[in-house]
Amino acid sequence: MRTCLSPNSVAVVLGTRPELVKLAPLIHELGDATRLVHTGQHWDEAMSGRFLRDLDLPRPELLTGVGGRPRAGQIAQSLGQLDAAFAEDRPAAVVVQGDTNATLAGALAANAREIPLVHVEAGLRSYDRAMPEEHNRVMVDHVSDLLCAATEDNVANLRAESLDRGRIELTGNTVVEVVRRQLPDRAARAALLAAHGLRPDGYVLATVHRPENTDTAEALGAVLAELDRIARAGTPVLFPMHPRTRAAVERFGLAGLLERLAVTEPVGYGDFLGLANHAALLVSDSGGVQEECTVLGRPLLVVRRSTERPEAMEAGFAALVQPGEELGGLARAWLSDTPERLARLAATPSPYGDGLASARIAALTAALAGRGAEPVVPLAA
Ligand code: UDP
Repeated sequence: MRTCLSPNSVAVVLGTRPELVKLAPLIHELGDATRLVHTGQHWDEAMSGRFLRDLDLPRPELLTGVGGRPRAGQIAQSLGQLDAAFAEDRPAAVVVQGDTNATLAGALAANAREIPLVHVEAGLRSYDRAMPEEHNRVMVDHVSDLLCAATEDNVANLRAESLDRGRIELTGNTVVEVVRRQLPDRAARAALLAAHGLRPDGYVLATVHRPENTDTAEALGAVLAELDRIARAGTPVLFPMHPRTRAAVERFGLAGLLERLAVTEPVGYGDFLGLANHAALLVSDSGGVQEECTVLGRPLLVVRRSTERPEAMEAGFAALVQPGEELGGLARAWLSDTPERLARLAATPSPYGDGLASARIAALTAALAGRGAEPVVPLAA
């Protein structure tokens, strides 16, 4: 461990799959200083238990009665329990990541008790006020004491809101190191593809779960119809289905559109990376996948109205598409020049940093908590 933090002194508050993934490298850097608190927003084997194990994370303190509630109930339940936990045993710092209800609850709990607060992945903005995530990330940024921005764009977004320059640090994104560490080796990837009956560079990997794609039969039907057309035209489509999407398919009677897709339960993180690493095309509305595709060098169609991650588009890895014909048209165009596209992306560096973000954030967190740490080389702008 690089820092001089006391054992159990940094509360890392999280509640969902993407937070487990992105915070794993920082938790490893913090070592025994980590006090892991899980709000239980995603708390089942497929979305959480397996990730705690596979990412080698410590056993968390688990809050109760949070999962399955509407947004305000999740935040209120988490906030009350976090406040009691922090009153009983005050952390030297609290770390949150991203834009979930757990992120906001952790931030408000730290703020209420005047505990130094670190926001990992600060400064993302979609400017889409219909997304609860946008409200969560804006509120968290404004109460944080240390804003760990992944990119120069994220720094600029924070500066545009007049956030104090002294609180902002350019760190890179921890996704770079987690992908490098968790990607299975060549033999394991070959076995994985064989188990799914897939050929390298010969299939589409798709995930959708956001409300804009699952709240109405029209939107979900439009995505699934285009995936079905791709499969009909002969390119296999692997579709690990999020629990929210599965429920929506049943509710809207859309199961017929799944018949030609290779539908699975959500897969573990290593398997997801292994499958993404050899896909001819990714189709997703996930935030994390927009970053992971740049580390893996794979093309991605982002099925969303807006994005808070323009870097992947600007670097040529991703494009934003509407769920219907635009998705189908661009998918066919991109699948028609797969070898050239993959060669170009393999030669394009990820805009998300150099793999040292978690070391930088651990050192900055230690300094914020009043404990020294070895400095880490700054991220080249
Ligand atoms: N993921 C996974 N298994 C799957 C689908 C996704 O491990 O079957 C990973 C994916 O690589 C990414 C994260 O889950 O790191 C994304 O989670 P989600 O889409 O739920 O959240 P978002 O990133 O949109 O906030």
